[in-house]
Amino acid sequence: MQTLIRHATLVTATSCAPGDLLCDDATGRILAVGEPEAVAAAASPDARIVDATGLHLLPGGVDPHVHAYLPLALTDAKTDYAQCTRAALLGGTTTICDFAGSGAEADIDAAYARWEETVADTGAFCDYAWHATVTRFDLETRRQLEARLAAGHLRSLKVYLAYKPALAISDPDLLALLDFAAANHLVTIAHCEHPDVIPYLQNHLFASGCTGPDAHEPSRPPYVEAEGVTRFLTLAAATGAPAYIAHISSAAALAAYARFHDAPSLAARFPLLAAETMPHYLLLDDSRTHLPDFQGAKFILSPPLRTPADQDALWQALRDGPLTCLSTDHCPFDFDGQKTLGRDDFRRIPNGIQGVQERLPLILHHGPRHGLTLSRIVDLAATTPARIFGLSTKGRLAPGCDADFALWDLRHTQTLTQATQSIPTDYTPYEGFTAAAPPVAVYLRGRNVVQSGALLPDLPPLGQLL
Ligand SMILES: [Zn+2]
Repeated sequence: MQTLIRHATLVTATSCAPGDLLCDDATGRILAVGEPEAVAAAASPDARIVDATGLHLLPGGVDPHVHAYLPLALTDAKTDYAQCTRAALLGGTTTICDFAGSGAEADIDAAYARWEETVADTGAFCDYAWHATVTRFDLETRRQLEARLAAGHLRSLKVYLAYKPALAISDPDLLALLDFAAANHLVTIAHCEHPDVIPYLQNHLFASGCTGPDAHEPSRPPYVEAEGVTRFLTLAAATGAPAYIAHISSAAALAAYARFHDAPSLAARFPLLAAETMPHYLLLDDSRTHLPDFQGAKFILSPPLRTPADQDALWQALRDGPLTCLSTDHCPFDFDGQKTLGRDDFRRIPNGIQGVQERLPLILHHGPRHGLTLSRIVDLAATTPARIFGLSTKGRLAPGCDADFALWDLRHTQTLTQATQSIPTDYTPYEGFTAAAPPVAVYLRGRNVVQSGALLPDLPPLGQLL
């Protein structure tokens, strides 16, 4: 059966204009898009017609940084695959990229087996892909990566410069890994913070009586993040590896990235050089961690929330470059029973907040108020992440692409509260925030999966591993 969306405003990374879209739910592909007469000419007489007058039609969001499942030493992230991927669809995102591996196992095959089991338990409601987390680079790691490459199952790697001993990769291992990544055209995503300075500062702060959430940011200051960016990009430049900086939070880290990005002789060393930030760094600042009664723990994540001046720098870099992607680092926890594990010691507060459902509604409302066009938002939140991670049929409105898209009524807003989120955590860090109204309808590979802000009743988990 075909679906013909008529009278929409089509938003792509390069244009925003009235038009129609025709897709086929048997193949899940877009058949025609653009000028109404040409699209109508391609439609079969029995095509289902949807009138989208007054609505914007955007490609389904692609969120390249999501933790749909994350077992940690003290406690696991709250959501499972079904909960996370349902939330994604309700927020207009049709593809997420998760990270196979949490550091508990350095073995990549074991991590993938664990993630496959997890998805098999609950199913996934949107499409998903995995970056391979690499914590060391020895002969066995190389063998496993080569096998995945040969099977066509590997496009990207994740490394942590921080979090010793569970996750952090050493500089010599990272250099060897980047050499391997360069030879095999793999994008390496890096969490950039200095692994030894953080525990040093944490322990100093704690010993001096700073035990609450407001000690978190001073324990991971911007210069620690900037050093990580510089070190990672130095190693990547030397090897000629494609490089992607995860979650830039500060003006200092942004400047470190821009030094490589904006210098032609350095930038030429990279087949790809990209960086992301997240809605929480744009909309929440460190003053939240000073809230009384331990409420600041609701805003603990890493790198930490920064200052309004950092937010200004990030907005500008999102609007004009050099930032390339807007993702979420979705990794939610309850306040009671999870965040409260660190009530007497900020070092034990689980790091992370949600965002996969809120990302597009927040940026569609706040982005234009900071000079972002709708096309720029589509570029940052769908088209460019899909291109970087090799998801060639995602993130665009073009014939032959997957018919993943959402219809938005941008004349209306919503107020985010704990009750408006679909995941079962006991708070949202965005309580009271204004956002674009939830998408009127969402389509995944040509199938209507969300209507009037709710998942279709009895919707099966249709998500596919990409
Ligand atoms: Zn993350």
